[in-house]
Amino acid sequence: MNLDEEIFIAKSARQNSYAPHSPYFVGAALKCKSGKIYSGCNIQNDGIMSICAERVAFTKAISEGEREFEHIVVCGGPSLESLEHCTPCGYCRQFMNEFVDQDFKIYLLEPDNTVSEYKIDDLLPHSFKL
Ligand code: ZN
Repeated sequence: MNLDEEIFIAKSARQNSYAPHSPYFVGAALKCKSGKIYSGCNIQNDGIMSICAERVAFTKAISEGEREFEHIVVCGGPSLESLEHCTPCGYCRQFMNEFVDQDFKIYLLEPDNTVSEYKIDDLLPHSFKL
């Protein structure tokens, strides 16, 4: 799987992170089965209304009519100059779970620029689903 385009888009989106409250900068690139890729970055807020890069990418895609997704690439860390192992938070795991099937992959860009691969069941076992 060549993820070069998604990695580039996730890293670029990360540059737009709005993180004045805690220094953590995340970017995501969501590949849809239509072939389109939607980007996202985390957006913090004074209240509890912050939104993560993953959910920004999903909400952008869903609001454009996308319903089928192949994979998402996520990269994040405490400064724009460095990455760390950055897994989706619990909200994002539950949110994604409603829209993805078991073939959906979650790729994390690691500090050494390798990519870790997960399925939703790896990150959200025994999940709640209506
Ligand atoms: Zn999240």
